[in-house]
Amino acid sequence: DSKRRGRNGWQSFTPELAEQQLHRLQLETHLRRAVGNEEFHLVYQPQVRLTDGAVVSAEALIRWRNQSLGEMRPARFIDHAETTGDIVGIGGWVLREACQQMRRWRNDGLGIERIAVNVSYRQFLGEDLASSVAAALAESGIPGSALELEFTERVLIEDVPDTLRTFEILRDLGVVLTIDDFGEGYSALNYLRRLPIHGLKLSQLFVQGVPHNQSDVAVCQAVTGIARSLGLGLVAEGVETELQRRFLLDLGVETGQGFLFSAGLVPDAFRQYCLARGAAMDMTATL
Ligand code: C2E
Ligand code: MG
Ligand code: MG
Ligand code: MG
Repeated sequence: DSKRRGRNGWQSFTPELAEQQLHRLQLETHLRRAVGNEEFHLVYQPQVRLTDGAVVSAEALIRWRNQSLGEMRPARFIDHAETTGDIVGIGGWVLREACQQMRRWRNDGLGIERIAVNVSYRQFLGEDLASSVAAALAESGIPGSALELEFTERVLIEDVPDTLRTFEILRDLGVVLTIDDFGEGYSALNYLRRLPIHGLKLSQLFVQGVPHNQSDVAVCQAVTGIARSLGLGLVAEGVETELQRRFLLDLGVETGQGFLFSAGLVPDAFRQYCLARGAAMDMTATL
């Protein structure tokens, strides 16, 4: 009941609440300065071909290291950054850094197809996303096809007037557009058809239940069927076991990502991983 009131904005004052609010205030104060203080870095999780584990691409995942707060994963700060609007600056930094990293890897001859960057809903609203993407591509000199943007289902559903136009500009830049965590929300095929999306990421929420949980099996089959019938690419996320890999392969899923292969890696470790496992394609094909 007190929880309910809290959600409606009526809160009784308790020491825990005061402490929570103080903590939030501290976090947000540090967050405001984090880009300027160069406290963020990216780790890169390999996306691999499920048949042989060859690396196809990398997803950039943000990490925050702050002197007084320590090392933090996005779950600790992304929602706050969305609320305060800081996500716009952070997201711009992620975009530029990921493109620069791709440039460095290409200069080194590392043959991965693309680098995937997560874009939050607020980032989509709060700035001219298409221009910052174009700028990050121009600055780094990588082609649009070497960049993938992962959006959440929310982007499909909320009725933002410029959504379609932004997606079309991004598509015309050659950028690969993907819906992250697909199946967690309430995407209707209708929305999916409206936008020029290239692929879906099957949510780890369902991948983790297969092959034993029958309803997760059903959702994986359904999402695979949607991707296939709409001609969309599909990446399974959260692949942790050999049984899951086999199940997905049998469903016809070609690409996966998860702890079975690797967690996110700092750039040097990612490069080592690719060299050890092989990269799935010849870079001359996309440059
Ligand atoms: P996501 O984009 O769905 O990324 C997948 C998350 O699952 C990552 O957590 C990754 O480390 C984790 N993961 C990967 N493989 C496995 C697995 O086999 N098992 C399990 N249990 N987990 C796995 P992480 O790095 O903590 O990121 C969490 C979320 O934060 C991301 O989910 C994404 O929505 C968001 N995020 C991360 N980086 C950024 C960013 O640069 N910008 C924005 N806007 N959001 C980001
Ligand atoms: Mg993602
Ligand atoms: Mg995901
Ligand atoms: Mg997620």
